[in-house]
Amino acid sequence: MKVHVEEIVVSTGSRFELVDITGRVEEAVARSGVKNGFCLVFAPHATAAVIANEHERGFLEDMVELLREVFKPEKAWRHNRIDDNAHAHLASALIGAARMFPVMGGRLVRGTWQNIFLVEMDGPRGRRKVIVEVMGE
Ligand code: ZN
Repeated sequence: MKVHVEEIVVSTGSRFELVDITGRVEEAVARSGVKNGFCLVFAPHATAAVIANEHERGFLEDMVELLREVFKPEKAWRHNRIDDNAHAHLASALIGAARMFPVMGGRLVRGTWQNIFLVEMDGPRGRRKVIVEVMGE
């Protein structure tokens, strides 16, 4: 079995932001030489998440609105006593910091409306990492 690991680094410009990393993940899969297997996309961050969904401006704005409504950045969360980002920790915990995709025929399998995004919820940050690990044969 082959294991190929790459690290993608992105910077974010606002508190909430969805960064499309589809192209960079697919390039890592191509470089891996894996024909059939899996691709793990993992953000080693407690205040960010990884999702697969449509790259459409309205959806991206809806996601940010949903995150604000559900996780309430202005609420007096206990974690805000030490660090003003409880909403981002809670959202990361529930959404998840990783997604797994099949690799078939040397290509990452995803739906037409499933681009891969790093979801920034505590930006702006100069350096957000995403680990892409491709495993298979
Ligand atoms: Zn924190």
